[in-house]
Amino acid sequence: MPEKIRLLTPGPTPLPERVRLALAKDMLHHRKGEFMAVMGRAQENLRLLFGTAGPVLPLSCSGTGAMTAAVHSLFQPGEKVLVVEAGKFGQRWEQIAAMRGLETATLSAPWGEAISAPAVEERLREDPAIAGVLLQHSETSTGVLHPVREVAEVCRRSGALLVVDGISAVGLCPCPMDEWGIDCLLTGSQKGLMLPPGLALLALSPRAWKKAESVSPNCFYFNLLKERDSLAKGQTNFTSPVNLIVGLDEALALLLENGLEAVYVKQWGLTMLARAGVRAMGLVLFAEKDFAWGITSVLLPEGVDGGQVLRCAAEKFGVLFAGGQDHLKGRLVRIGHMGHVDWADVAAGLFALNQALKDAGGFCGSRDYLEQALAAWRAALAVPPGETPPMTHS
Ligand SMILES: *Cc1c(COP(=O)(O)O)cnc(C)c1O
Repeated sequence: MPEKIRLLTPGPTPLPERVRLALAKDMLHHRKGEFMAVMGRAQENLRLLFGTAGPVLPLSCSGTGAMTAAVHSLFQPGEKVLVVEAGKFGQRWEQIAAMRGLETATLSAPWGEAISAPAVEERLREDPAIAGVLLQHSETSTGVLHPVREVAEVCRRSGALLVVDGISAVGLCPCPMDEWGIDCLLTGSQKGLMLPPGLALLALSPRAWKKAESVSPNCFYFNLLKERDSLAKGQTNFTSPVNLIVGLDEALALLLENGLEAVYVKQWGLTMLARAGVRAMGLVLFAEKDFAWGITSVLLPEGVDGGQVLRCAAEKFGVLFAGGQDHLKGRLVRIGHMGHVDWADVAAGLFALNQALKDAGGFCGSRDYLEQALAAWRAALAVPPGETPPMTHS
């Protein structure tokens, strides 16, 4: 058995020591002053992370709970939404919307590609009944980044609310909610935020709050209007996930210590490192053009058994990757590099992938793939201080 396990999965992700120590603290009471002080501090930092002046609601559920809360709070049964579907999580939006009784129109792209903002614009123009657009910022099942900023511009012109699943994007790549004009941004704790699973965060724009106020309450547990009132008092509606919030407070302090730009530059560097290494091994990147910053998806050569590659990397090298889903099962390796992951973890991942591929099919690639990967990483870090690396779409 390997001595050390490296979680290079797109959630859950490894926990920094400071966060683990914070999580280990004794219980605070969720209606007393000490906890409210933690909530207050975390709230200030959450607004910086989300880039919003409005409240960021903590919800005790996984990320999908926040997706559900968003759909139920913003739309009435019978209303129509446009769902962007280019992977497994786009399909999840469709399922949630259908269960809420919404009419759904779908804008699809082949898995591995992003949709375009003009395509969204066209659909909104053709069908003025569309009240909302639901999409992922980063579609984790394929490793693609959708052009949220451009889609937000289109939505501002049409009046449709833009609801963004940022579960694998917040804390990993820029997604400033107010500046871009996003109406609902949500995330989960176990990816970029370096926390255990079980906490979700959700924010609405002023026009989304207005819409939510017009939707009659339809779920006892997820009542965002009441959560907003509770948050104003440093509390949540029901018993708070106290330890996760204490951990969140520490994780946010860590993320903001050197400024968010530094976080994004780090993530950009790891993405360049992973991509260059994969290319130098002669492998095909599944998301060629519009790629996410927290995950690199690799298309395996024909005839290689993806399951065997994952098993070998785990058993021999202690590196845990994710595989492909649905029709991509056995065909993809998804390398997560989110949160508390550094260059050495990703380099270890590349080595494990290379060796596992050799085992599975005699595949080899360039001998100096690690040097090439590290050279790309160093070059990527040469972003001037205070600046953000280029988003692929802008
Ligand atoms: C991980 C993920 C989810 C699912 O989150 P859960 O916390 O498992 O509910 C949804 N959307 C995206 C984009 C994700 O990466």
